[in-house]
Amino acid sequence: MISPVLPTYARAPLSFVKGQGPWLETEDGTRYLDMGAGIAVNSLGHANPILVAALTDQARRLWHTSNLYNIPNQTALAERLVEHTFADTVFFTNSGTEATEASVKMVRKYFDHIGQPERYRIITCEGSFHGRTLGMISAAGGEKLTKGFGPLLEGFDNVPYGDLDAIKAAITPETAAVMLEPMLGEGGIVALPEGMLKDIRALCDEHGLLLVLDEIQTGVGRTGKLFAHEWAGITPDIMAVAKGIGGGFPLGACLATERAAQGMVAGTHGTTYGGNPMACAVGCAVMDEIATPEFLENVNRTAGHLRQGLEGLVASHPDVFDSVRGEGLMIGLKCNATNMDVINAGYAAHLLTVPAADNVIRLLPPLNITIEEIDEALKRLDQAAVAVEGNL
Ligand SMILES: *Cc1c(COP(=O)(O)O)cnc(C)c1O
Repeated sequence: MISPVLPTYARAPLSFVKGQGPWLETEDGTRYLDMGAGIAVNSLGHANPILVAALTDQARRLWHTSNLYNIPNQTALAERLVEHTFADTVFFTNSGTEATEASVKMVRKYFDHIGQPERYRIITCEGSFHGRTLGMISAAGGEKLTKGFGPLLEGFDNVPYGDLDAIKAAITPETAAVMLEPMLGEGGIVALPEGMLKDIRALCDEHGLLLVLDEIQTGVGRTGKLFAHEWAGITPDIMAVAKGIGGGFPLGACLATERAAQGMVAGTHGTTYGGNPMACAVGCAVMDEIATPEFLENVNRTAGHLRQGLEGLVASHPDVFDSVRGEGLMIGLKCNATNMDVINAGYAAHLLTVPAADNVIRLLPPLNITIEEIDEALKRLDQAAVAVEGNL
């Protein structure tokens, strides 16, 4: 008999009733160290007092009014995002996939608006993840996401990730944009080759294409910069953000330059909940915490410590781990053993990690995790590796 909840997830047999910082607790009081943070969402840990205060203060005053009216918290969050990024303007959503959808709609609208409606095709990358709407599974492509859901949305040209020549070869007079993640998240923590994002930016400029970055996982401090593209010294025209920006409250955003957004006039796009007062109250508090040089410096310091510890684990467990990759606190451990075996052994050691493609386990802890907590996670990961070795 089908479960009351549609069985679309292969869930771990765990559930939690409360959390504090990087710790989660089950009903019987067992504590797990959460190095997944709800897939890079709980950027400031569980039950962060600053976020709890922001949310409860707003909850006592006003929950929802709709986008029929101005929403002061939404304006305040947009102003923060504009101040700290390339963007001139922001559209708020409830999720990541709505933010990438909005990005694609904006690309198409831009070219229609400037009198080139024949340019609507978007070059995307194999192994990407942009969310689960029909549009976004069509954009990312791949059997795993699309099988059985056809016909797909037309207009995406899928090329290998990190292959500049393939992008070049895919450009036609109908091409409007290139859309990609600065580093693949679900795809297995795969970075672009050094310097390539800059080359892609230059290619877009040369051909009059818009550059759309999906920073839903890489953004909001995760890689040690506020947004990952800052490492490359370039800016996109449009950027999708979600996950960490809400710290656990559903919130996403599509950021854009004034030029890229010029077609998105009143009536062209909308959402009932997007940019809701509660979501934006939390979003403002998250930005106020994370978008400071001190906070980001600390992320890089913590990340350096984690990285060093993980390199040690790879060296001492070569049958279990192959290598460490990623940037900041968005780390992939490429496994030689089966990644799910390592993750399950982690559960037994009361440590939570997240699988990704390419036999990788992801470590995406809260960005304010301490060095002591990182050491505890390394200890538990070592225990998990020993257990996996015992079964090889
Ligand atoms: C999680 C994710 C999405 C989808 O976000 P949802 O909130 O699940 O819709 C899109 N792109 C990337 C890179 C992601 O990591």
